Amino acid sequence: MCPIAGGLCAICGERLFSPYALSAPESVRCGLCRRIEPAFVRAAAYGSYEGGLRELIHLLKYASVRPAANVLGRMLAEAIAVLAPDFPTRSIAVIPVPLYRAKLRQREFNHAELIARTAIKLTAPGRLHLCAGALERKRETVSQTGLTRHQRRENVRGAFGVAQAEAVRGREVLVVDDVYTTGATVSECARVLRHAGATKVWVATVARTLKASEHHVEIQFSGDTAVDEGLVTQEIPLARAAGS
Ligand SMILES: [Zn+2]
Repeated sequence: MCPIAGGLCAICGERLFSPYALSAPESVRCGLCRRIEPAFVRAAAYGSYEGGLRELIHLLKYASVRPAANVLGRMLAEAIAVLAPDFPTRSIAVIPVPLYRAKLRQREFNHAELIARTAIKLTAPGRLHLCAGALERKRETVSQTGLTRHQRRENVRGAFGVAQAEAVRGREVLVVDDVYTTGATVSECARVLRHAGATKVWVATVARTLKASEHHVEIQFSGDTAVDEGLVTQEIPLARAAGS
């Protein structure tokens, strides 16, 4: 379980294989982030969603081993620390991706909220303010497992609503979750939060699925990882992208 290293997209944190990514890490975007401007400013993750980290997340989510949230929360705090230099000086509203109420009753806790609580405790006091009820999941969504990127976007469209507009209006917000797969869920959360008046939305997750190679056509993991649409990402520096 090691932190992600190497060249990454400056916006969504996807792994990049271009030499630009290492020479100018602050200004390189993946193909997707160049094509569609995400509703969030930047997403950071601690580690790759595989191996021991994936098992730890599953222990918390599916086996209800709550102490796992302490370890995962520490990792989330590290992901948040990457974003924190650009946070506003006033406190930032931390919003865990909510579960639908039936799912919450069944699981008895929102894993994203548990992880967020630990991370907040480990971060400088006063900087992060938990607003767990600010966002709600308005309907049940089918599992994202095995869906394409496009299907994932459709699956979560309209699934979230802002329950406490005063908590986000005119504020910067940090959305937290366990895993960033295609970004469909956090992007939809960010869209809804921006619509409700959040000035900026940041995203931090414990783990992220990462492209394994530059030329992969399709990846199919077992379990709850995305089936990639087969987009081969091309990376160019922001300056060149803006000028073209
Ligand atoms: Zn990207």
